[in-house]
Amino acid sequence: MRALTFDTALAFNPRYREPLPTDGDVLVKVRQAGICTTDLEIVKGYMNFRGVLGHEFVGEVVSGPDKKLVGERVVGEINFPCGRCDLCLAGLSNHCRNRSVLGILNHDGAFAEFVRVPVHSLHVLPKSVDDDSAVFVEPLAAAFQVLKQVKFDARQWVTVLGDGRLGLLVAQVLRNAGSPVRVIGKHPDKLALCEKWQIRSRALADIVPRHDQDVVVDCTGSAAGLELALQLARPRGTVVLKSTVAQGKPLNLAPVVVDEITIVGSRCGPFREAIRALAQKEIDVVSLIHRRMKIEQGVEAMELAGRPGVLKVLLLME
Ligand SMILES: [Zn+2]
Ligand SMILES: [Zn+2]
Repeated sequence: MRALTFDTALAFNPRYREPLPTDGDVLVKVRQAGICTTDLEIVKGYMNFRGVLGHEFVGEVVSGPDKKLVGERVVGEINFPCGRCDLCLAGLSNHCRNRSVLGILNHDGAFAEFVRVPVHSLHVLPKSVDDDSAVFVEPLAAAFQVLKQVKFDARQWVTVLGDGRLGLLVAQVLRNAGSPVRVIGKHPDKLALCEKWQIRSRALADIVPRHDQDVVVDCTGSAAGLELALQLARPRGTVVLKSTVAQGKPLNLAPVVVDEITIVGSRCGPFREAIRALAQKEIDVVSLIHRRMKIEQGVEAMELAGRPGVLKVLLLME
């Protein structure tokens, strides 16, 4: 099958081995998949992953243990837990000690014609969520995770740092939750999108950090984001870290102690809430699509997705 693979180098492979579904697994024919910063970081060495990239997808079930699923349009959760370890038994299966993660850890991903996934990872899509929206379910779920971890109210000062793919999803989720959120970014066209959504925004160049924000959500995808977030957060404030980067950088953590900052790491989130929000058109994701490209152009598509200011690049399998 055709696939975009990483093995010391990124390559389009027209004859990659098709996945063989084993017990409990489903074979999904991928319709389209989204490129995310995590994919770009993997190519820089993050997670030491080898194989087919990609974890944001929408597809159609081809075969599997549950015949009722065949032909259904689905999205899939990306963490595949063992179900037996202490963390799984404690209800923390996203943190399973033995997990594999689609296109990130020990499991071939969705930048391919077919992907093999556990049946329990799948969510059948309602008709009201089209393919272009569905491909955003995984990152939108990650945006909803912030609401699970931090309490927001209308009196707080909240900043989303970064106007990229994830930052613009997090900002919309927080706005819908009634938080007076502000986005700080570098790209005038992205900040104009915020204005369209009635979300306040400021150019990074105009910011003088005043240690006055109750909550700062770092969606910069860069190692420098945390440092600025710590300058923006008020004493006893909260910094939520959404960025995963291959290369850290030396960071002075003294401000965390002096200002008694709470740092919350935040990763994957609730798929159901993301699907519901998309079905009810509460989140504008279509404005985030930068370009659609064929899987054959996967290497160029990844290069494009890594350029500053480029939002979502979709890979089409057809
Ligand atoms: Zn992602
Ligand atoms: Zn487990």
